[in-house]
Amino acid sequence: MVQHFDENTTVGVDVGIKDFAILSNGEKIGNPRYLKKSLLRMKVLQRRLSRKQKGSNNKNKAKQAMAKLHEIIHNQRNDFQHKLSFRLVCENQAIALETLNVAGMLKNHKLAQHIADASWSSFVTQLEYKAQRHGKTILRIGQFEPSSKICSKCGYYNRKLSLADRDWVCPDCGTHHDRDINAAINIRKFALDKQNSIGI
Ligand SMILES: [Zn+2]
Repeated sequence: MVQHFDENTTVGVDVGIKDFAILSNGEKIGNPRYLKKSLLRMKVLQRRLSRKQKGSNNKNKAKQAMAKLHEIIHNQRNDFQHKLSFRLVCENQAIALETLNVAGMLKNHKLAQHIADASWSSFVTQLEYKAQRHGKTILRIGQFEPSSKICSKCGYYNRKLSLADRDWVCPDCGTHHDRDINAAINIRKFALDKQNSIGI
């Protein structure tokens, strides 16, 4: 049986670096403050660790502190992601996501980007198993759909949109778009179009 979903029962989710997730209903979910604090602390510890002498007692202590912090960050992230994925699964019948290019992402050496990517893939895993458990559906669209560049109102394709443009006005219909929210709306739209064209 092919299920049909609509805009009221489906949420589109876009990923970000500044915000952890952006929803098609306009909601932006930032990374929790305590997670940011822990990441700052990690930078300090990394620097400290690199300065200590090999095999010294201080080096071992610094290593232990680092391991402990990794555990704290892991737990904080897990907790945050469990709550958010549970909420999304409870509030919606279907969740639309973009399939991300994980191989390309892992080549990125920027720490912040790397952490955001790793974090996102574990979040998707949590969404998937919760959706399955609660009888909800994950809808996916391909990574080549230009979700940021298309006006979610009229379908105009904005070729000129660059990565730096956080918001833009559609030259065709005049709608003012927040880049990420527009992308989240398009992710939902593309996913619904694809889903509802099956079996018709
Ligand atoms: Zn438009």
